[in-house]
Amino acid sequence: MKDFYEKLLDWYLENQRELPWREDPTPYHVWLSEIMLQQTRVEAAREYYLRFLNRLPDVSSLAEASEDTCLKLWEGLGYYSRVRNMKRAASEVMEKFGGNIPNTSAELIRLPGIGQYTSAAIASIAFGERIPAVDGNLLRIYSRLEMYEENIRTPAAFRKALEYYTDRMPKNTTKTGKGNPCGNFNQALMDLGNAVCLPNTAPECGNCPISEFCRTHRERPGMEADLPVIPAGKGKKEERLTVFLIRSEGRTAVRKRPARGLLAGLYEFPSAAGELETEDAVKWLREHSVEPIRIKKIIDAEHIFTHKKWIMRGYEVTMDSFSEENVPFIMASEEEIAQKYCIPSAFGAYLKWMDLKKNNSIY
Ligand code: SF4
Repeated sequence: MKDFYEKLLDWYLENQRELPWREDPTPYHVWLSEIMLQQTRVEAAREYYLRFLNRLPDVSSLAEASEDTCLKLWEGLGYYSRVRNMKRAASEVMEKFGGNIPNTSAELIRLPGIGQYTSAAIASIAFGERIPAVDGNLLRIYSRLEMYEENIRTPAAFRKALEYYTDRMPKNTTKTGKGNPCGNFNQALMDLGNAVCLPNTAPECGNCPISEFCRTHRERPGMEADLPVIPAGKGKKEERLTVFLIRSEGRTAVRKRPARGLLAGLYEFPSAAGELETEDAVKWLREHSVEPIRIKKIIDAEHIFTHKKWIMRGYEVTMDSFSEENVPFIMASEEEIAQKYCIPSAFGAYLKWMDLKKNNSIY
């Protein structure tokens, strides 16, 4: 009778997703993909991954790139500390490891931005280390396999899942034509969590290669989606702000955000706290040396971060000619906004509005 791993592997070899980073799983490729996938869906990450690799194909090019280049390549992916940390880690790899990415999870975890899950994913997939890469997916699958009915978001649950998977990982870690056995084990579970043992909905137990090992399926068929137990989170804090698209001579004002805090060091359209009425908006503009010849309310927008939500009111502001010395903003051309300044997706609605306006879809 085939064991847990053999069943999982058979399924994986037939059903694995075709992903660009799996074509040539070098340590750099695996590292980049795992960092991108931390907060980004696979489909969205594909294109970013290829574009990033095209521009920065290896650790040394990443270490040498400017921060603005890295941020621009990351624009739209969010959670920008991920790419900043990658760049810092790349410099460390160049200085301390002669450009070779460390080959154990114990060393990888000491690099900036690489936590327990990511170190295990890189070490198992790229180097064959026998270590489970336990993330939310693997915790969910574990909770169902073992009918774990306590809060899954605790260190105790994590330890149990780690132990469970470690017991079932292949003992022989020698790489074969099918890849690294332990890397395959982790990737098979990732794919199972994506296609079969689904979150927030009934899992497809009829298609599950390891259903015979699943206690919930055996003892409470039809109730698998009740697990894992996740306590209700706190509501998101709301922040209201007014966003200004200040325009003159075909240019639009942008400014760099502070070096610390939310969206640190990225560029934004100037904004003020609160949802300002036109009169207060004009006052704010004058305080910032902008004399509007026209101000028009445009779209409202929202953006949801992990712990907070922005509710934005937008104004298009037309000002007369400007001189760089008098305006405390960067007056950027369309090309510079597209190529040079990294404006996060929190302002995506306003970038889109500008595009529509450019194409005369709105007036
Ligand atoms: S049998 Fe169902 S619940 Fe159990 S691991 Fe498979 S898909 Fe998940």
